[in-house]
Amino acid sequence: MSSKNLKEVPPNISRLTELSVLLLNNNHICTLPAELLLLSHVRATIPAWWIAKILTELNLGNNTFKEIPAVVGHLEQLRKLYLYSNHISTVSSEVMGSLKNLCILNLNHNDIQKLPSEIKSLTKLQCLSLAHNKLENIPAELGHLNELTEVNFTNNCLTELPQEIYHCKLLTKLYLARNQLDSLPEGIRSLTKLQVLDVAGNMLSMFPVEFHQLHLKELYCERNKFVQCNPMPSVLVQEVLSLKELVARFVLCEDRNKSSFVHRTLPYYPNLITLLTKGSYCALCLQPILTTWLECVHFVNLRKVMKMKKSLTVPVRALLCSYKCFISEGHAYYGVISA
Ligand SMILES: [Zn+2]
Repeated sequence: MSSKNLKEVPPNISRLTELSVLLLNNNHICTLPAELLLLSHVRATIPAWWIAKILTELNLGNNTFKEIPAVVGHLEQLRKLYLYSNHISTVSSEVMGSLKNLCILNLNHNDIQKLPSEIKSLTKLQCLSLAHNKLENIPAELGHLNELTEVNFTNNCLTELPQEIYHCKLLTKLYLARNQLDSLPEGIRSLTKLQVLDVAGNMLSMFPVEFHQLHLKELYCERNKFVQCNPMPSVLVQEVLSLKELVARFVLCEDRNKSSFVHRTLPYYPNLITLLTKGSYCALCLQPILTTWLECVHFVNLRKVMKMKKSLTVPVRALLCSYKCFISEGHAYYGVISA
């Protein structure tokens, strides 16, 4: 029933006893009446629960919906839901929380500003597409979606991404072009299956630590604010580390030794463990660091280092533990000065 100039769902839908895919895209429909389920019951051809049981794909793209119709939440076998190019501005937590079996959710070209945290219920979701909306942030609960392989947030108003997105370990394609991101969260290396990353048209100054260890096949990163390599002499000041940092480095270092007292005792101090998980390590000497480091950058050639086709050089963040490491010979880490 695509492109039929429909203003409402025709009642004869109930005669389609084998209905598992319902295409209502390219019409002028703005509501799905609850009768979608009841209609069939009235006409005694197929009972309401039958549609609810067998409908697996529903395409409502290119209509005039202002929200995800509540009745959709009762379609318990629904796997694919397309609602692109409508006028949806809010997504109710109730409906979102009821779409538990969805594999594909396409809400491209709407006016959505916010996703409810109930998105965490969509544990079977593989493909989430919200390109061309007005999203300002993404709920951290997205990290619950373990099956996600493809996420598209192109053309929104995102200023940051939750680090939890890196919990989606199966992610192969991540589209973030044309947002307002000035950095990507640290920990990107967890996305071991990531093949396509599109961050073109943001405000990134560099890529996060260990970015060059990803196994990317395609990277789109034009039109950002990447730091340039303009080497200049630096003035050295011997740093004075705080007691906290000194102790943290000692504990982190000891913890690497499985037979040490610290390593065996740490499990009894969960708060301390939480604090120490924020630790990183020196890009040169690999010494652990917690809160104090020298902000540096190195320039990675995609073809040479990451075996990609493009021979582009991009800046990747690196942390050094001390001036001692910074002034040592034979490395290509540059200190970063803010403009
Ligand atoms: Zn070091």
